[in-house]
Amino acid sequence: MEWESARKSVGITVVCQGETMELWAGQPVASAIETRLHARIETFKARHGRSPSLAVVLVGDDPASHVYVKHKQQACIRLGLLSQKIQLPHHVSQAELLQVLWRLNDDAGVDGILVQMPLPPHIEVTRVLDAIAPAKDPDGLTPENMGLLLSGRPRAASCTPSGVMELLRHYGFDVAGKRAIVVGRSLIVGKPMAQLLVEQHATVTVIHSKTKESREHTLNGELVIVAAGRARFFGGQDFAPGAVVVDVGIHRSPDGKLCGDVRSEELTHCKAVTPVPGGVGPLTIAMLMQNTVHLAELAHN
Ligand code: NAP
Repeated sequence: MEWESARKSVGITVVCQGETMELWAGQPVASAIETRLHARIETFKARHGRSPSLAVVLVGDDPASHVYVKHKQQACIRLGLLSQKIQLPHHVSQAELLQVLWRLNDDAGVDGILVQMPLPPHIEVTRVLDAIAPAKDPDGLTPENMGLLLSGRPRAASCTPSGVMELLRHYGFDVAGKRAIVVGRSLIVGKPMAQLLVEQHATVTVIHSKTKESREHTLNGELVIVAAGRARFFGGQDFAPGAVVVDVGIHRSPDGKLCGDVRSEELTHCKAVTPVPGGVGPLTIAMLMQNTVHLAELAHN
């Protein structure tokens, strides 16, 4: 089967020159999460007279951010969650943005607050994250929620890494005792990813842009989570035969197509790879929905 057509029929095994590789799609996992959420949302509505609610704050006109916010709002509609979008101009001051967040913190009708990243350069991300009430932080990025994750009792762990853990569970990959390599150390992906893997007894190595001989590390991984933010940077030579490779990266190439950090068509010697699009992306949104419902239950039940 041609790689391009195989990529579109995710969830299948690709056979190429006698080697087999599975494509682990995110959509079936995301759908299973959403199905499980339905009953919880109905129970919440029956008890409290309204659905759990999410407020998304979007600053500026970044086209990719608009698309991500639209997908998050569509997921809210699909599940019957209340959602509101607060659109602020690119030039909004930090003080004005913080006031919006404080108002949402005080609003008893709001259960989750998400500030879409990236923010314009004149706004300090740390000040923004510090301003979100931890009990309303479905992204798990506030210092308190990061600390809870590190202490092994997460309130709401960061959505993308949590989604990766769900994906691995769904496809029956037990991380316990495995050599797991996390490529990237960002607050939103790399660091919480490493912590979630450690909690599940993986032996974790985190590499980043200053790591020397990074290929030696990736080649040693039974599981490699790639979140470097570099389009199609990693290829077949970077991964060992039989490895599972999760491609978190998402980029729009000049021809308008989406691609990941990995040239996945070269990974036929690996056990499995996640496609881009259709891999980790749907899980990030499903986990955002799950975390919002979880925070609403914690606040009201
Ligand atoms: P980020 O903040 O730019 O962090 C990238 C990390 O990768 C940094 O820690 C950087 O090291 C490291 N890195 C860069 N080049 C490297 C290399 N050659 N070898 C090893 N490490 C390298 O990006 P992010 O927010 O974590 O996101 C990563 C990617 O995932 C992006 O493409 C983003 O769009 C995507 N993403 C997707 C989803 C989804 O739902 N699918 C969600 C979030 C993010 P330094 O720390 O030394 O700079």
